[in-house]
Formats: sequence, structure tokens, C-alpha cells
Amino acid sequence: MKVTDHIKGAKSTLFSFEILPPLKGKSIQSIYDGIDPLMEFKPKFVNVTYHREEFIYKERENGLLEKIAIRKRPGTVGICAAIMNRYDVDAVPHLICGGFSKEETENALIDLQFLGIDNVLALRGDSIKTESNFRPHKYGHQFAQQLIEQVVEMNSGTYLMDDIQLEPTDFCIGAAGYPEKHFEAMNLNFDLENLKKKVDAGAEYVVTQMFFDNQKYFDFVKACRAIGITVPIIPGLKPIKSMNHISFLPKFFHIDYPEALSKELLKCKSNADVAQVGIEWGIQQSKELNAAGVPCIHYYTMSNSVSVKAIAKEIF
Ligand code: FAD
Repeated sequence: MKVTDHIKGAKSTLFSFEILPPLKGKSIQSIYDGIDPLMEFKPKFVNVTYHREEFIYKERENGLLEKIAIRKRPGTVGICAAIMNRYDVDAVPHLICGGFSKEETENALIDLQFLGIDNVLALRGDSIKTESNFRPHKYGHQFAQQLIEQVVEMNSGTYLMDDIQLEPTDFCIGAAGYPEKHFEAMNLNFDLENLKKKVDAGAEYVVTQMFFDNQKYFDFVKACRAIGITVPIIPGLKPIKSMNHISFLPKFFHIDYPEALSKELLKCKSNADVAQVGIEWGIQQSKELNAAGVPCIHYYTMSNSVSVKAIAKEIF
């Protein structure tokens, strides 16, 4: 079932979460162990991230360095199929532009359709670690907007190389939004206009980057509505879990902690202290969002369902 249909049919705020494929070589059990504790809150859909290749350099016998592409977290599509099969819940694979030609994207979408997957979250993806800027595949897409356009084309039965109409796919397409602005965008308005292009191209809902100040989400929704973005905007929340997160999350995701949260974090002496602050903050944020009637609250587990469970217990 499509994410938008889940939202339309909901009588109250929905619960959903995102998981990461395990590191290569780990079994699917680690995924189930993360999902099992959250099933009691009846998620309507579970997102599975996509991780593109990284490049490493290996020294050859002759002393020269060989550039090798590796993927540390493969398995997005397989995990989606396994989740749907085991839990009877909708899985939302993330689909990215980076590393994909248009043809590879088309084939990936055909695989998803055959598996009975109705949803995709269409993203550009970040640059790989060895590149300073995002570089699209030679035959791929530069922006998520173009990826969305490709999915919309397939939804109308138009495939890449064929001049005849083929069987249309029927994917519900989500896109990413950034209450605190995407880090590359010149300013928030420019970023909002680009979000509108994604929605105009066919994105049917937006999921936000994590934020820790609800006011930023409320302002973002207001600004989106003001420029004509009318689709549901699902807030994404991340419970802070460890001392490392205190600096890692703002650095990696380009977000700020509000003063009141940073004051609490400064008092923490251990990972356990931080996790407790993360849970309490997450409960506070979720209660307010829930009271505001948001369509769904989407939690970034980042392989930590313990904190998400503690928060969900208070809300759902
Ligand atoms: P875009 O919408 O293409 O935007 C990228 C930048 O280009 C922005 O600064 C935007 O303002 C600008 N822009 C967009 N369109 C145009 C245009 N037409 N003309 C000029 N400028 C434009 N990354 C992964 O690799 N795997 C994942 O699974 C993953 N999951 C995510 C889930 C969520 C909910 C979010 C919020 C992010 C996720 N990311 C993931 C990270 C995401 O890929 C990065 O943030 C990436 O840098 C931008 O992706 P986007 O889809 O927002 O890109």
C-alpha cells in the first residue's frame, strides 16, 4: 500500500521508522532484532536506506595503489522484500541518483515492482568520501527531481529506450526536505524552491531531515505551504544516543541543537546519560508534533531501536 494511502486512511498520527542495512557480512537477523521491538507500535511503513559505493586504495605487490569500489552496506532491496514478507508491513526503499545510470535505475525499479513494493523515497545521495562535490553518474541524474521525473515516466508507461507504451508502474514517490536547509543550498528559499520542483515533478510527500527544534519544522511547513507545496510533510526525528553523537549529528547532518538541549547534553558524562537525554527530548518533541496533528512521525533508528521504543511507548 502507498504511504499516501496510509496517511489518508489514518485517524491519528502514524508511526514509522528508518533502518540501515547491516554491514556487509552480518546476517539479516540483526535487522529483525532491531525491528521486532518496534512492531507493537504498528508501523505502517519501514524505510530502508541505500548506501552507495566507497573507494579504497589497496597496495599492489609492485607498490602501486589500486582503486577499489566497495559497498559496506549492500542489501536494501533484499531487506525490503524480507521485511514485507516477515512483518506484512510496507517497506520503502531509498533510491538514489549517485552511482546509478538511468538504465540501472529503470532496472532497479522493475525489480521493486516485481517484489510488490509500492513506494520509493527518491534522493540524490551524498557525494562519495573521496569527492568534494556530488558527481552524477555519466548517464545518471544530477538532482533528485530528475530521478522523480524518471519514476513518474515509468508510472505512465514510458520507459527509457522503448518507443511503445509499456506496462506502467505505480510507485508512490517520497522526497527529502530540510527544515534547516540542505547544506549545499545558497539559502533556505532557494532550497524550498528546489523542494517545490520535486513536488511539482511528482513527489507525493516529503520526509524531513532530523531536527531537534520543533519550531524549525513548523516554520518549514508554513514556508512550504506559502509557496504552494501542499503534500504531507512527515517530520523525521532522531534520538541522540551517545557522547559521539553530540558533535557527530550537527556535523554530519548540518543541523543545530537548541540551547536547552545543548545545556542538557553538556551535563552528560556517559553514553547512558546522553541516551537518557535523547529519549526525554524525543518524547517532548513527539508529544508536541503529535498534538499538532502531523501525519506521521518518522524515527531514524540508525541501528538503535532501544531509544525509539522508549519514545514510542509514550506516544503510540
Ligand atoms: P536534491 O533534492 O537533488 O537537492 C540537492 C541539492 O541541490 C540541494 O542543495 C538543493 O537545493 C539543490 N537542488 C535540487 N534541485 C535542484 C535544481 N533543480 N536546480 C538547482 N539546484 C537544485 N542519502 C543516501 O545516500 N542514502 C539514503 O538512504 C538517504 N536517505 C535519506 C533520507 C532522508 C529522509 C533524508 C532527508 C536524506 C537522506 N539521504 C540519504 C541524504 C541525501 O541523499 C542528501 O542529503 C543529499 O545531499 C541530498 O539529497 P536530496 O534528495 O535532498 O537532493
